This record gives sequence, structure tokens and C-alpha cells, in this order.
Amino acid sequence: MMESNQLWQAALGEMELSVSKANFITWFKGTFIEAIENNKIVIGVPNSFTKNWLEQKYHQALLKAFKRLTQDKISELEFHVSSRKKKELERPEEEKTGGLTIAKAKILKTEEKVCPTDGLNQRYTFINFVVGKGNELAQAASLAVSRKPGEVYNPLFIYGGSGLGKTHLLHAIGNEVKKLHPDKKLLYVSSEQFVNEFVNAISTGTTNKFKNKYRTPDLLLIDDIQFVSGKEATQEELFHTFNELHNKKKQIVFSSDRPPKAIPALEKRLVTRFEWGMIADIAIPDLETRTAILEYKCKEKDFPLRPEFVRFIATNIQNNVRELEGALNKIIAFTQLRNVEPSLEDIKSIISSIASSPKKGALTAKQVLNTVAAYYDIKIQDLTGACRKKEWVTPRQITMYLMREEMNASYPSIGREIGNRDHTTAIHAYEKIKKAVNENEKITEDINLIKQRLYN
Ligand code: ADP
Ligand code: MG
Repeated sequence: MMESNQLWQAALGEMELSVSKANFITWFKGTFIEAIENNKIVIGVPNSFTKNWLEQKYHQALLKAFKRLTQDKISELEFHVSSRKKKELERPEEEKTGGLTIAKAKILKTEEKVCPTDGLNQRYTFINFVVGKGNELAQAASLAVSRKPGEVYNPLFIYGGSGLGKTHLLHAIGNEVKKLHPDKKLLYVSSEQFVNEFVNAISTGTTNKFKNKYRTPDLLLIDDIQFVSGKEATQEELFHTFNELHNKKKQIVFSSDRPPKAIPALEKRLVTRFEWGMIADIAIPDLETRTAILEYKCKEKDFPLRPEFVRFIATNIQNNVRELEGALNKIIAFTQLRNVEPSLEDIKSIISSIASSPKKGALTAKQVLNTVAAYYDIKIQDLTGACRKKEWVTPRQITMYLMREEMNASYPSIGREIGNRDHTTAIHAYEKIKKAVNENEKITEDINLIKQRLYN
């Protein structure tokens, strides 16, 4: 069987695609393959907390990855608390990879350099952010803000779909400010962290400490602010934090997966404030940008990939830069494991295992409308019309759900496609169907059948 470190790197490469970066680092840091005994693999983990968590959340996914990577030679997986920390994950090796010149290729970019005081990850800079159609406004605004924090757009609110570079830009702003204005005090947090710390501060009676932390930086970066949705006490605190910083002309930057108005259960006064400065969206990159990003990542990882392969990958992975990078990591892992250059067939099969199906981004609203209408045997006018007849309402909501799920369409654009409805209607429809997908077999089956039609 392949060398255990390589196997672990490859398995982590797979996990990385489906796990958020924060979780990935939290849970897989300091893990390694401790032993492989016949068909059982034992993963060493640094503490029992991590052990429990991995067992509960990632056991199945990991086992699946191992099965795939070893052609089913592994059928059991165990976690074991072990003090032999970090080694494997943190030093991706200069292993003997035979004649190939890719020994230095870094499958994992997990040597995350996160500064403990300001939360900034040095890895994300403007230099390694590829600019193209779709992200140029957000990049330019970010750059402007880091040149003159607090002076140009305050707040800066960046929104866009998952894996399109929001977190990257937030860190890039922070790193640039750190470089240009070393005297300034910075703080990067996810909104989850903000929420958790606040809740904690209340329960331990340390709200003054909390306030001091969040109301004193010259630059506050809060990632994924949509998570404060519905959390009233936190929103209240955020409101005061915002006011105080803004009054003092301190720069605030938010990211979100949707525009302020489309965040459900968000206080009006916060929506208003989020809109005070500049709102910049990041859209799915076009083919040219995707190609440029991939070429850049190949260089960064020291991994030569034929131009026709680069093109093929960029053509087929359309929605998400994280997936683009994930595909490349998989290809690198593949190459290192087999010690041969992958063929186009290999690349095709690697790509087809990436989360969103290759054809995804190619779908149009019209195709979704046509397919849903045909499936339910109703007219498009009825699907997009105003009548709330029951036979039409569910198909209408399913259409909106599919546009979101399969096309990554924004809520406002979905609203427009479905008879010029408000984006809140689209959100409501999406949430409703999403919930139904787990509970209602009929709807689940309908959606699956419609999807089959969409992609065939
Ligand atoms: P988001 O926060 O929007 O979900 P991230 O910022 O985490 O997305 O980006 C996902 C991955 O894609 C990161 O590794 C990031 O460095 C990379 N990435 C995204 N956009 C770009 C870009 N324009 N140039 C280079 N890398 C990018
Ligand atoms: Mg992010």
C-alpha cells in the first residue's frame, strides 16, 4: 500500500473540498496516520475533544475517501488520541516521488500562518489574488480601503457566493494595512467567532473585555456576517460596535454570502448601516479568469500542468474557485500517488468527483423554467405568474430553489426571473424547499427527477 503520509495527504485533500477552511484547520491540525493494520486505519489525533468531533462529524466521509484511495483495501477507521503531534500535516514532505519534478508540490496549503493577535492569515494577499471580471470591483474597493482605512468607503461590504474569494480579500486588506500602516491595530474574525465570544462574555460577565476588544481596532474585518441572522442580542452589540468604530472613523469591512437587504432576520438599522459605505459583489469568474487563477495556482504549487488540461479544468469547473483549487490538489495527489502524469481521462474522472457537477454553471434560468414546467406539465406563464393556485405554487418554489442550488443565482435575479418578484420571496421559497428536501419524499423525488432532466 502507498506510503501512509501520502495517503493521509490525499485523504485530507478530499476532505478539504467539503469542509470549511476554519473547520478543516481546527479539526485536522495535528492529525496523522498512526497505523495501518490489515484493513483498518488508525488516525492519531491530538486530544479527545478532537477525537469525539472527528468521530461524530467526519468518520464516514474520511472512510469513504480512504476506500476510494485504496480501492477498498481499507474498511475500518479509528481515531486514537496520541501525543505525536502535528508532524505529518504541517510538513508536507519532500518525499521520494521518483523521477517527477513535483516533489515540492504542496498538496495542502495548511501551513496556515494565522497571527494569534489579529487573526490574519498571511497566506492571503493582494499579490496572490487574481483579478478578473467578476471580482475586479471588490478587489479595487478592498485595495482602496487598505490604502486609506476609514477614509474612503466605510463600511466596505463584500458579498458573493461561496468559494469566490471573500475571505481571501478580507485577509488581503488586513495584511496590506499591516504592511502600509504598521501602527494600526487590526482584528479579523468570523461572525461566528463574534457571536460566540459575545455569548461567552455575557455568561462569564466579561462584556467589558469584549467591548474593549471589538471597539478599539483601527480596522475590524468581520467575515460571513450573514450568520448574525436571527441573533438579536448579538445584533444589538454589533450595532453599538459599529457606531463606535464608525464615529471614530475606524474602518469596518464585512463579507456576506448575500447583500444586506437579503439577510433574513437582520435588524433594519444594521441593514441601513451596512449600506452606508460601499457594497461590492463578487460574481462567478469567467473562463479567462478561471484559467488565469488555475495557471497561477499551478505556479504557486510548483506543479506543471499541460495548458490543454488547465483549459479543460477551467472549462468544466465554473462556479467556485475553491473547487478549482480542490481539483488541482486532487490532481497533484493523484500524480504523486501513482507517480505518472495523469491522462485527460484521469482528469475527467477527478473532476467529476468534485462537488458540483461539471455542467452546473452552464444552466440558464430559461432551462430551469422550461424543465420544471414540462415536468409538472404546466405553462411557463403559470409558473412565473401571480396566481397562488396550489398546483403552481410548489413548482414555482422548486424553480427558485433549483436556480439557487444549481445555478448559484442571486436572490434578486431569481426574483426577476420568476415574474419580477422581490428577492425575499426567492429566499423564502428557497428556504422552504430546502427544508422540505429532508422531510418530504415527494418533493425530494420530484427534484431529483427534474435534475436528471436538467443535466441530460
Ligand atoms: P469565500 O470566502 O468567498 O467562500 P475564499 O476566500 O475562502 O472564498 O476562497 C476560496 C479559495 O479560493 C481560497 O483558497 C482562495 O485563496 C481562492 N481564491 C478565490 N478567489 C481567488 C482569486 N481571485 N485569486 C486567487 N485565489 C482565489
Ligand atoms: Mg469565506
